[in-house]
Order: sequence, then structure tokens, then C-alpha cells
Amino acid sequence: MIEGAAVVTVDAPEPNISATGTEYAEGHVVIEDGRISAVGPGAAPPQPGAVRRVDGSGCLVTPGLVNTHHHLYQWATRGYAVDATLFGWLTELYPVWAGIDEELTGSAAAAGLGWTALSGCTTVADHHYVFPDTGGDVLGGVVSGAERIGVRLHAVRGSMDRGQSAGGLPPDSAVEDTESALRGTEDAIRRFHDPAFDSRVRVAVGPCSPFSVSGELMRSSAELARRHGVRLHTHLAETIDELERCDREFGCDPVEYAERLGWLGEDVWLAHGVHLSERDVARLGETGTGVAHCPSSNGRLGAGTAPVRPLLDHNAPVGLGIDGVASNESGRLGDELRQALLLGRARYGPDALSVRDALWMGTRGGARCLGREDELGSLEPGKLADIALWDLDGLGHAGIGDPVAALALGPLPKLRGLLCGGETIVADSRLTRESERDLTAELRRSCSSIAAKGVG
Ligand SMILES: [Zn+2]
Repeated sequence: MIEGAAVVTVDAPEPNISATGTEYAEGHVVIEDGRISAVGPGAAPPQPGAVRRVDGSGCLVTPGLVNTHHHLYQWATRGYAVDATLFGWLTELYPVWAGIDEELTGSAAAAGLGWTALSGCTTVADHHYVFPDTGGDVLGGVVSGAERIGVRLHAVRGSMDRGQSAGGLPPDSAVEDTESALRGTEDAIRRFHDPAFDSRVRVAVGPCSPFSVSGELMRSSAELARRHGVRLHTHLAETIDELERCDREFGCDPVEYAERLGWLGEDVWLAHGVHLSERDVARLGETGTGVAHCPSSNGRLGAGTAPVRPLLDHNAPVGLGIDGVASNESGRLGDELRQALLLGRARYGPDALSVRDALWMGTRGGARCLGREDELGSLEPGKLADIALWDLDGLGHAGIGDPVAALALGPLPKLRGLLCGGETIVADSRLTRESERDLTAELRRSCSSIAAKGVG
């Protein structure tokens, strides 16, 4: 049991400019068998049996953060095309990514997940869409990386079947044919998808984007996902270039194109959603389609920023994402709370988002995007014990009266602890399952090996 900390439960199903749920200036959280059994003010009620007590004084307890969009393999390709647009950046990186293999995805995933766990993240959706012929089991590498760190993984089995010879953006060497992509996706569901309440690995279906995937693969992927009862994810409406390309090729905007292909619905969440018309925003709300808002990546590539306030007002699920770290070299989900807040206010004014809205998107909103609102994303009895214990007692935060403002506006606090399913995976800002020194050495080898292949 954790006692003596400020507790922010994020138990409101919808965010509100002034509140996102029940809060206790000093409260407790009790954990039993990997789940939360009690939350409330003051000291915890007496518990039977042996109890481990954690003194949370000076700390803030929140749900573990949920990252709704990542590309973990890119942890080994940070720092390329640093001043490019999305399409320029992709064109430089596709040939580099064509050299990835199972060893690289494993080490990059462990390093990236370790790093994001240190920023308070307990659940990560990884969108992996590069499957070179000679790469081996690249998705298996990502899954093993998650097991090494102890976070929950949503492994989005991505795909691309539209190389340059078919009018797409990636080189032909980086894409699969449509049949292989569908077969590989079905195989990933069979091997890794666990639908259980406390699942550590779930699979979603994720053709990469309209400019790298055929309409046929988009449509067939949606059918496949619905046949297996898994979720759907893709990139959409990220840049003006994409809008213009979509209009030229299909005579509509990306959201209209997605709808034609069966890609709006409560089982879909989309990365970015930056360039949306008022009609698009309303349509996403009506259909319950989620948006993974990636403010740092959108800033890094100069893409713009998503209409978060209008999306929330239309009750569309909005979560936060790091996006690939090749376009977000920071890679810390905790930082995205602040970034979302600043960009949202810069675009829509000072009352566009509250600090609590930012926390809601980083927790409960993310859980909604991933279809796990019943299991995680808030501190409520019966939910999984995915919990962050932020240390607000240091130089960076002491004296800030509102702990949520300290978290969302201040520097990202250190973690006194991070629990996933009741297991401590970060203690006193250190990973418990792996040594950072070993992860760093592995990462350095992977970065050198992919850079050498790129030069060759
Ligand atoms: Zn992305």
C-alpha cells in the first residue's frame, strides 16, 4: 500500500477543463494480486496479512502513462534528416530501415521501452511496419524487448505494399506484397495476441499510411482485424503534403478516404490527425475513432498540431504518443503532457487545455484509444495496478502547490516508483529488470551496425 501521497485518480470518463476526477491531497492506494483494491483519502484501512507499506510523502500518485503511438525500432536511427519535412525525412530513412533485423528490433525496443518507462509509461503501442526479407523475426524482437522491461505492449503489426513502382513513397525493397502482409499480420495475431484482462501483449493491425499502402491492403486489413476482434491503427492526416497527395489521388481528404475503406469506428485509433476539417473532427467524434496526438514529433517535423480541444469537445478519444523516436529524439511520454499543453494553448488560446486535460490524455484517454478503459488508465478498485509515484520533493518541484501542475508544467519529475500489474519496474529512477549500462552497450552496437549498412 502507498500512503501519504497526493493521489490523482483520473476517474472521470471525460476530461473537463477544471477537473478530471477524484483527487486527494493526501491519500492511499492499496494493491492486491496485481490490481488496485482500494483508493481513498488519508491512511489506508487496516489490511489482513503481510503488507508492504510505501511512504509516499512528497510524492504524487497517478495512473501509469499510456503511449498510444511509437516506433521502437527507430531508437537505433535517431538524429537523421534533422531539418527535413515528413516526406523528405521518410525518403532518407526508408533505405536505412530496410537494413533492420530481429537483433536490432530487440535491442532498440528494450532501450526505448526502458527509457520511456523512466518517464512514467506502463503501456506502449508500438507500430512496426518494416519487414525486410532478411530481417528474421523482427516483431518477435519487439515483444521480447517489452518482456525485458516489464511494460505492457500493444504490438501493432504494420505493413506497406505500395513501393515507388506503384506510386508509393517507400522504395520497393522496403515493402511486402499484399498477400504476404496479410499473412504476416494474421500470424502475428496467432502468435502474440492475448485478450485477457491483465494482458501484457496485444496485437493490432496497422497498415502504415495511405501513401505507402494500397487501398486493397487497407480494406482487407480492416476485415482481418474485425474477424479476429483486434484493433486497427494507421497514420492519418499528418501533413499538408499528405492532404494534397490524397486530394490528387483520391479526390477527397484523408478522413473521407479512411471512411470509404472501413477505417472509422470505435475499434480504430489514428496517429496524428493534425489536418482535420470541422467535418472530419465531428465524424471522428460520431464514430468514436481515436486520435494518438504526438505533439513533439509534429513539432520536430513542422507538421502542425492536432485540433485537440475540438476533438475532445466532440468526445473523440484522444491519447498521447511519442511517435517514432527518429522524429522525436527525446522519447519520453511524460514530456508529451507539457508539449500537448503548450501546443494546444498556442493554437486555441489559454483555456484550450488544462493541466488535468493533459494528464487525462496521457492516461485515461490513451486507455480509451487502446480499448482498455475498463482495465487501466485510472486509479479505481478492480483496475490493474499500473501506477506512477512521482517524486515532487526536489529542487524542480518543491513549493508548487498543485501537484498536477508540477507534473504537467514543471520539469519531468523523477520516479520514486513505477508499477505495472503491481510489479515494481522502476525504483528510485532505476529500471529493476535490466541494467541501463547493458542496454546502452547493446543500443550502441545496433546504431553502429545499421549506420554501416546504410553507408554500404
Ligand atoms: Zn508514426
